[in-house]
Amino acid sequence: MYEDERERLIINLLQNGYIKTEPVKQAFLTVPREAFIPDFLKTYSYVDTPLDIGQGQTISAPHMVAIMCEALDIKKGQKILEVGTGSGYHAAIVAQLVGETGKVYTIERFESLAKKGKENLKQIGCTNVIVEVGDGSCGLPSYQPYDRIYVTCAAPCMPQPLIDQLHDPGKLLVPIGDMYCELTLLEKEKGKTAVHHLGGCVFVPLVGKYGH
Ligand code: SAM
Repeated sequence: MYEDERERLIINLLQNGYIKTEPVKQAFLTVPREAFIPDFLKTYSYVDTPLDIGQGQTISAPHMVAIMCEALDIKKGQKILEVGTGSGYHAAIVAQLVGETGKVYTIERFESLAKKGKENLKQIGCTNVIVEVGDGSCGLPSYQPYDRIYVTCAAPCMPQPLIDQLHDPGKLLVPIGDMYCELTLLEKEKGKTAVHHLGGCVFVPLVGKYGH
């Protein structure tokens, strides 16, 4: 029912340069965004915009998910940590990118969103995502180190626990600022870190010990 709209959105994301690589394109083709959208908003599933998912939170716009996936250069078999499960959509896309040999751990501060996110992932048959409830600004130490870590909400600065839980080599992507923030990529290699600024964006705040 939504296949045509999904394809049109993906063509748009490709033409605008948000999707750059074949694996990211395939992941977007595979994951049905409508399965992660509340019933009353389903008709907007393929509009390139954030949408309400309850608790004052949003599912990110598809172009932002694409930008983050491309920036992280995710490979098959990697272990990933997502901070901010929300609807579970972004985790489902990343789960496609890491494949059956990889694993996505995602942590959400709202129990109700974590429960719904888990249900959404189960409904689409996604089996390589583990959803936890807690303060993701402290990371998820039990499964560290992670090849990639990304935060789907705006942090005041790079949370130190996330830097510590990142594998060497590894990449950490965090929107830094208040609501209006800058997507910031930290690369760790041979004990050294380098930081790259990828441009402005808008996110709900990271709330927690290392958040706002
Ligand atoms: N990735 C989500 C998706 O695909 O629907 C979108 C995430 S939404 C933009 C940001 C999420 O981060 C919200 O669900 C919010 O509750 C969560 N969040 C904020 N602070 C958090 C924290 N300290 N730990 C875990 N989750 C947090």
